Amino acid sequence: MDLPVEKWKAHVSQKWTQLKPSFKEKLSLTLSLRDIFLLFFFLRPEDEDYLHRLSKNCFGKDPSAALFYKEEGNKRFQEKEFAGAAILYSKAVSHAALGSPDMSVCYANRSAALFHLGQFEVCLEDISRAQAQGYPERLQPKILLRKIECLLLLGRSQEAGGAISELESKVITDKSLADLPQQALLRKISQLKVKAYEEVTGQPPGPAVANEAQEDVERWEENSSIPNASSAVSLSFDLQRGRHLVASKDIQPGETLVREEAFVSVLCPGENLSRQAGVETTCGTEVTNGDLSCHHCLKPLLASVPCHRCSSAKYCSQECAQQAWECYHRTECSLGGLLLTLGVFGHVALRAVVVAGFAEVRSLVNSSREDNQEHDVAEIRGRHLATAAGTEEKPETAKPLIPSCDVDGKYRGSYHAVFNLLPHTERHSPEHKFLCSLSVAALCKRLAETGLEAAAELSPALKVLGEAMLRHVLQLQCNAQAVTAIRESGSGKSIVAHSEQVRLATALFPVTSLLNHSCEPNTSVTFHGTTATVRASLPIHKGQEILHCYGPHQCRMAVAERRQRLRAQYFFECRCQACLDDLGPNVKSAVSSKGMFHCPDCQAPMQGGDMLRCTRGACKALVSRDDFLRRLQTLQSQVRTALGLLKTDKPERAAELLLKCRLDAKSFLSPEHVVVGEIEDDLAQAYATLGKWQEAAGHLRSSLRVVEARHGPSSMELGHELFKLAQILFNGLAVSEALRTIQRAEKVLSVHCGPWSAQVRELQEMKACLLDPIAAVCFWKS
Ligand SMILES: [Zn+2]
Ligand SMILES: [Zn+2]
Ligand SMILES: [Zn+2]
Ligand SMILES: [Zn+2]
Repeated sequence: MDLPVEKWKAHVSQKWTQLKPSFKEKLSLTLSLRDIFLLFFFLRPEDEDYLHRLSKNCFGKDPSAALFYKEEGNKRFQEKEFAGAAILYSKAVSHAALGSPDMSVCYANRSAALFHLGQFEVCLEDISRAQAQGYPERLQPKILLRKIECLLLLGRSQEAGGAISELESKVITDKSLADLPQQALLRKISQLKVKAYEEVTGQPPGPAVANEAQEDVERWEENSSIPNASSAVSLSFDLQRGRHLVASKDIQPGETLVREEAFVSVLCPGENLSRQAGVETTCGTEVTNGDLSCHHCLKPLLASVPCHRCSSAKYCSQECAQQAWECYHRTECSLGGLLLTLGVFGHVALRAVVVAGFAEVRSLVNSSREDNQEHDVAEIRGRHLATAAGTEEKPETAKPLIPSCDVDGKYRGSYHAVFNLLPHTERHSPEHKFLCSLSVAALCKRLAETGLEAAAELSPALKVLGEAMLRHVLQLQCNAQAVTAIRESGSGKSIVAHSEQVRLATALFPVTSLLNHSCEPNTSVTFHGTTATVRASLPIHKGQEILHCYGPHQCRMAVAERRQRLRAQYFFECRCQACLDDLGPNVKSAVSSKGMFHCPDCQAPMQGGDMLRCTRGACKALVSRDDFLRRLQTLQSQVRTALGLLKTDKPERAAELLLKCRLDAKSFLSPEHVVVGEIEDDLAQAYATLGKWQEAAGHLRSSLRVVEARHGPSSMELGHELFKLAQILFNGLAVSEALRTIQRAEKVLSVHCGPWSAQVRELQEMKACLLDPIAAVCFWKS
């Protein structure tokens, strides 16, 4: 997904093998970005043709696809699958020609689905969109009725009254409405009038208070030299650690340390799309990441507005569509298929230069060229710092020391900081550099063709942009930040959310990028749209480094694997405390035993390489690792079958199968094995769907024990598990345990996600309800 698609990689790899060995050797020597840029000449017309064929994708508007999706949407609608129907109508909208009858009808149909989903505000927006796109006059009463009902349900009786009069006069005077049953309509109108009258005279129903408004008003003091960081941190530099953040005072868990907007973020296309790239595209009804999040602000999409030119970019609102167009999509729109083929890193690199603007890019590229050893600016300046500290040099001559800082030591955010992230040019393999430069070259040529720079091929301007993009592609391997969100999945009928963390986008964050890695970090990062928030997850003492986990976390991976991954992707040997402990003489066996197999005869842990032996001396059991792995695979496939049953509303059968899986798992897996925990969690979900709260709570408590053993008592993972338990106990009326669990969950989750996160607010609502018996009775009766 980050890198180009396999077919293009294979094509470039073949080109690479045909190169002269002497040339390859030359490339293996350290080259600056400027020199790699010369590789652009290796991109031949036949390569461009091949890439063009790979990138053919239906990104244009296709009226037949619009029709197809509309009909599929209608089918789902009839089956009362309103959420699915809304997504299909959105796909239809994105293919319909602007102002066509198709488009207005799709908006109208989507408004019906949204109405059934209880999304009245968005439903009203869609009704206006349908009207703006020329919804047929003779069908108007249908959507006007829906509009009135929405307004009444939202407590906007005055507006509803106006709409009723409008509808009434239409029905009475307009002869073109003859094909609608006039009498039925008039009856419906009079019913609505009564409703509106009651609403006006009775006490006004409190409109849903938008508690989003008070969101994230956590007070904090902004740092005077690092924009978007708290005053509790400061920027430091040394040779070993590069630029990094340090606590300038004692920090409490839950304190916000960094809150910043992404410089750029590119939505991940999602699995289905990447599989399509390079293959002939057929219209499918699968849902991808691109259907669920706004392509500009990343907020969840309920009712998308498409780009006016392509069918791939979808936005939450006209404002986002407009902003995206003006900032970058104007350039990207016609490149759609090519960007997908070249991968997300190439896309982020292009967006970074487009957003920064040519003048800014040129000035930074030029100054980096002047700096002869441009790829190691940081280290060279760092050496200054080291000498300054070591010898008695006057401080004035040793400044400015930290890359990307002004003379006064202020960190320059945005593009300047992004440009100065290390590309590690000398550490990437020559073949990788070859792939990246040919891909960037292809992008530059297409930009020349589409007329971004109205010049002949590879004008000096494009060369500057190309060099900057190449730099970004190489930087991204170490500096890309995955923007994630908790997405609720599972069957629609389940009360207990089955949520999972999904990767929404790849982004560049100038300040968050300053954080170094630890396998046992002292911070948590959460995202809200394109904003990242870094909070302390542990107490951090003054002078301690602020650390963040790049992925390989101590709880999820053994030490050897972690270090291998960090070396391969980030080019460093991890020396974090967790690694030092795990490599030390008193190795904690905790990590290894979590993923371990247990003796099928006596349940004691098994040990060994290819052949595993029971650790209990008296027991002679001997099992090959392959046998264990095969058993594990069979077990996991059965769990997947059970989840399928749960999704298709067969919770009894799912529970039955999961109980078998649980028995099987216990016979050969350690009690802390991740699969054991997952099975318990799935069982809880199945029983919750059946309304069997006690059973559900029992299984969730078991899952909680596994999560706590693996991730610790104050981890975000445990917080999510506690949240689920709280929901189950709440629904099962186990008041005192529910209150205790809510308190624990609230404490853990507000440290990681902040006191205003959706989950914490939901916990507070549950608590209020449990503490107010009258409200509680109302809740359970409804
Ligand atoms: Zn948006
Ligand atoms: Zn577009
Ligand atoms: Zn480590
Ligand atoms: Zn044994």
